[in-house]
Amino acid sequence: MENCLFCKIVNGEIPSQIVYEDDKILAFKDIQPAAPVHILVIPKKHIAGADAIEADDAELIGYLWTKIRKIAEDAGVCQDGFRVINNCGENGGQTVRHLHFHILGGLKLDEKLI
Ligand code: AMP
Ligand code: ZN
Repeated sequence: MENCLFCKIVNGEIPSQIVYEDDKILAFKDIQPAAPVHILVIPKKHIAGADAIEADDAELIGYLWTKIRKIAEDAGVCQDGFRVINNCGENGGQTVRHLHFHILGGLKLDEKLI
């Protein structure tokens, strides 16, 4: 989608540090890491957020979750554990309106809301 930052990363208009890519999803390092490992996993298809996932996206989103394990393993955080975060909409603190899951790891994440 035009003017979407992460669509521009998908099509290579904006450079990123890619850690995993296939025909359906992309994973790249967050530009402002909040932990030693901070990776964003996105569908290549533009979906604005968790509030915009349609029934037709079920396979894609399920597929993305199977790759979160692989991406965490490759980043070396699978054994010790990691956190996956999705911020959605205004109150959720979402700043980029292209669905993305943060993988955070490499340290003990102490701050817990839930
Ligand atoms: P959120 O606040 O959940 O929407 O997350 C957006 C994330 O995108 C933030 O953690 C930003 O640091 C990250 N980000 C913004 N621009 C870029 C970029 N060009 N490359 C990689 N990550 C980015
Ligand atoms: Zn997009």
